Amino acid sequence: MNHETVRETDPAVADALDGELGRQRDTLAMIASENHVSEAVMAAQGSALTNKYAEGYPGKRYYAGCEYADDVEELAIERARELWGAEHVNVQPHSGTQANMGVYTAILEPGDKILSLDLNHGGHLSHGHPANFTGKTYEVEQYEVDEETGYIDYEGLREQAEAFEPDVIVSGFSAYPREVEFERVQEAADAVDAYHLADIAHITGLVAAGVHESPVGVADFVTGSTHKTIRAGRGGIIMCGEEHASDIDSAVFPGAQGGPLMHNVAGKAVGFKEALDPSFTEYAEQVVANARTLADALAAHGFEIVSGGTDTHLVLVDLRPSHPDTTGGTAEEALEEVGLVLNANTVPGETRSPFNPSGIRAGTPALTTRGMGEAEMERVAEVIATVVDAPDDADVKAEASAEVDALTDAHPLYE
Ligand SMILES: *Cc1c(COP(=O)(O)O)cnc(C)c1O
Repeated sequence: MNHETVRETDPAVADALDGELGRQRDTLAMIASENHVSEAVMAAQGSALTNKYAEGYPGKRYYAGCEYADDVEELAIERARELWGAEHVNVQPHSGTQANMGVYTAILEPGDKILSLDLNHGGHLSHGHPANFTGKTYEVEQYEVDEETGYIDYEGLREQAEAFEPDVIVSGFSAYPREVEFERVQEAADAVDAYHLADIAHITGLVAAGVHESPVGVADFVTGSTHKTIRAGRGGIIMCGEEHASDIDSAVFPGAQGGPLMHNVAGKAVGFKEALDPSFTEYAEQVVANARTLADALAAHGFEIVSGGTDTHLVLVDLRPSHPDTTGGTAEEALEEVGLVLNANTVPGETRSPFNPSGIRAGTPALTTRGMGEAEMERVAEVIATVVDAPDDADVKAEASAEVDALTDAHPLYE
């Protein structure tokens, strides 16, 4: 992989692209929402379809010349229906946030009510944060996880729903390590006659592979990102029953978006094909096994793991009990210096600012894509423990950096 064609026109951008490729090769990508797509997905994204306007849907476009755009979108839809078992799929949302916007546009009027998980407890900006369009457009109330256990309090959610009477309850989270019990959220929604939107952005791949319970057929609407635990390139997706199909399609276009990014739809089609291969199930199982090993190894090093472990691809660590003077930001920075890239994160019962919170979040999808297994997770936990124990110690960091090099060299990326 090189950027020679870009370099001929624009050396400054080529330098940045080479730099980013080198950064990904030489570091451990442990931001839980990141992954490495195949070169086939990248090639589809970098194709001539970026030139094509295809407003509308296959067979009903507003522009001429859409025969190949139709082929690509039909393939993406067909494969998504097979992967998740949904009756209706819309593959046009530009991102997970745009997918949520599509659903809200289809079912809500300004001022309608959303009940969703607090961002500090693992929710997402697009679920009603005041800085997001959702917080400005809708009336939002938020539920929380149980601070003692780290699990969603489904009983409490139901009581809150009965008091607030929302139009939609949103489930599906950004920093929740445990399996979501979609049927229990559905019971709360049924009790107050609200819609249920299950946003599986983080776990689309785990759900497709059957290693996490599926909300398809349970929730009214399911949205997701296509670049997190499934490796189909940046984008979003919406799934629903046939009864909502035309409302969703017209909410995405023309409701919330213009022309679809057909090159990204091509990337989705290729990534979905890869995920239909039986090897993807093995991959998803390994992602979860790796996260469990990482959680256990970090706990053995004395870290407090929110909820006591994980059922998914991510581990959330509360640094306060073990490292009361170390913030998530300090840990993130020291780890980045040694080539281990994760993010500071708020934790349930957060006592610091969201800009420098008390936790760190680590995910295994990208390392698993590089072929790393449980033995490597033990070594990764050791790197995290030694560096967070001594974030200012140059000798410790030099040793940790050498260990990161050994791990990345043994598991090369984009050869
Ligand atoms: C990542 C994420 C999204 C979508 O994010 P985009 O960056 O817009 O693709 C939506 N919901 C949740 C819960 C997420 O974690």
